[in-house]
Amino acid sequence: MIEVTNITRTYRIGESSVNALNGVSLKIAQGEFVAIMGASGSGKSSLMHILGLLDVPDTGEYRLMGREVSRMSEDELAGIRNNVAGFVFQQFHLLSRMSTLDNVMLPSIYSSESGDVRSKAQQCLEMVGLGHRAEHRPNQMSGGEQQRVAIARALVREPMLIFADEPTGNLDSRNSHEIMRILSELHAKGKTIIMVTHEQEIADYAGRVITMKDGKVLEDRRKADSTASARVSADLLDVAKLPLFQPGRIYGFVVQAFRSIVSNKIRTLLSVLGILVGVASVIAMMALGSGAKASMEEQLKSMGSNLLSVRGGSAKIGGAAQGTGTVTRFTVKDAEAIAELTPLVRRVSGTVSGSAQTVYMDKNWSSSVDGVDFDYGKMRAAEPSIGRWFTREEIQGREKVAILGTTVVKELFGSANPIGRIVKVNRINFQVIGVAPAKGSNGPRDQDDVVIVPVTTAMYRVLGKDYLDGIFVEVSSAENIESAKSAIDVLIRKRHKLRASDDTSFNIRDMTQFQQMLSSTTQTMSMLLGSIAAISLVVGGIGIMNIMLVSVTERTREIGLRKAIGARKSDIMMQFLIESIGMTLSGGIIGVLVGIGVSVLLSTFAGWEVRTSPLSVLLATTFSVLIGLFFGLWPAQKAASLKPVEALRYE
Ligand code: ADP
Ligand code: MG
Repeated sequence: MIEVTNITRTYRIGESSVNALNGVSLKIAQGEFVAIMGASGSGKSSLMHILGLLDVPDTGEYRLMGREVSRMSEDELAGIRNNVAGFVFQQFHLLSRMSTLDNVMLPSIYSSESGDVRSKAQQCLEMVGLGHRAEHRPNQMSGGEQQRVAIARALVREPMLIFADEPTGNLDSRNSHEIMRILSELHAKGKTIIMVTHEQEIADYAGRVITMKDGKVLEDRRKADSTASARVSADLLDVAKLPLFQPGRIYGFVVQAFRSIVSNKIRTLLSVLGILVGVASVIAMMALGSGAKASMEEQLKSMGSNLLSVRGGSAKIGGAAQGTGTVTRFTVKDAEAIAELTPLVRRVSGTVSGSAQTVYMDKNWSSSVDGVDFDYGKMRAAEPSIGRWFTREEIQGREKVAILGTTVVKELFGSANPIGRIVKVNRINFQVIGVAPAKGSNGPRDQDDVVIVPVTTAMYRVLGKDYLDGIFVEVSSAENIESAKSAIDVLIRKRHKLRASDDTSFNIRDMTQFQQMLSSTTQTMSMLLGSIAAISLVVGGIGIMNIMLVSVTERTREIGLRKAIGARKSDIMMQFLIESIGMTLSGGIIGVLVGIGVSVLLSTFAGWEVRTSPLSVLLATTFSVLIGLFFGLWPAQKAASLKPVEALRYE
């Protein structure tokens, strides 16, 4: 069954080297119970590791069931470790995070086995007399019990071969004999057992004792009654080649990743914080962006169509005038002159604005006050839904009548009807004649927080101005916008005696310009926020990579053990990738919730319009998965390429 010829193994540590095996040759038949003895350092473990496929010899041949081991691929070797051999270590190597039963089941997740692996593991536990301890953790049990669990784990895949490297080395004599009794029973059932020990008493259980010294076989002695039973079944090495994405296996990895994440809650939370913040800001940013866009569109609609705005000063961005030239002050006569530009112009309204203190009974509210002309109501869709608009006479006569925005109504009257009531605007009595239709907010500015009065009243009674702040012009049709603009331009230059080169003292804007300006600011904002979010995602990813590297180092022995019981490179890789994706994904999901929460807070407390789009949620989630994949790849790769023996020896 096992045939090694002349194998050597040399360890190099820097300059020096140790010849652990110096040409070992031996044959072991199926059904034998072999004890390997020898002084410490004589090469017993080195030989065992090679026989158990955890290590490879430097020179020499190793044939397992007639096949040359050095020609097998890594995956084939893993398959044999899983299906043909079971390893029992002196240090037990149980995973402390899992229950006893899960430890015993562990080799099954690396196999193609699909049946009821749980009850099989339970049977194996019962076989070693620990059926009642299935839910205990390894650290809640004695050394002897732990070793029996390790034996159960070695048995669960029903291997032909059992390797045991000083299985009783850490146990007292009563437990030692209990372990040996179990191994003898297994031998009686036909298993081939190869065991290392340095105690004669333990070696006496075996039918054949091989003594080693300085990396060579010193003596090979058989007991008379030793049995080398049974024939070799030919298909033993026919290791099933498993597909990489086997659902049962993936499920096992997901469960383990979840366990590992849950067992390190704080650490996981801290390391996914970057992803969380990144995703949350992506969500909040996109919600803000589309909210701003939606309210902008809403606002453009309520602005009216084919509208021009003529204002003093150069083009304003964000309220700050650029340039230092003189500012044209428009008069009512200017507005009237523009109105005469028929048929280009349909309606005109001069406007003034300022702020005012409005008082009703004991309530007191400060808001903006807009003075507007008769046509303004139609042009800007401002005609009241409750009450009525101003008459031309009221406007000409500087009457003290007011239309209140919904916010002002709410603050001063609550739910009472304000029509016909008298309010004081800057200490002057006004009669309320209507409530303006709600327009919503434009960014942080509440457009309903306004008192609308006749332009003449506003100029001469409330604000004390003798000029207009601006003139709104409704052009007769969209095609006429450009010609209307130039006609108004010529008219104003003529009336105010401006030079043709002077383009800072007034400006004419049409709606498309507003639209462009608004969308370009929103775009710049989104890009800025987007890059902050991206940076935080990358930083978060590096955090994940860091924690995964720590986790790989911390769990080196676990990885060694997993490989020893048959995990392939791809299995280890997948396990760590699933873990890192699990982390980033959970960070992403919490981030989505936080992002939505922040958007809701912004809309309720700051009054900003936000719209969380399903697309942004999808995008952020996908992104966090990709980050887990990308930044988990290197640590996973590092874990997967560890050699089983070296990993097991890691302290
Ligand atoms: P045994 O199990 O019989 O005590 P080992 O096979 O563990 O002996 O070791 C044989 C020799 O090889 C010892 O001298 C030991 O120091 C050396 N050795 C074992 N493993 C390593 C290693 N990974 N690196 C360097 N030297 C090693
Ligand atoms: Mg040893």
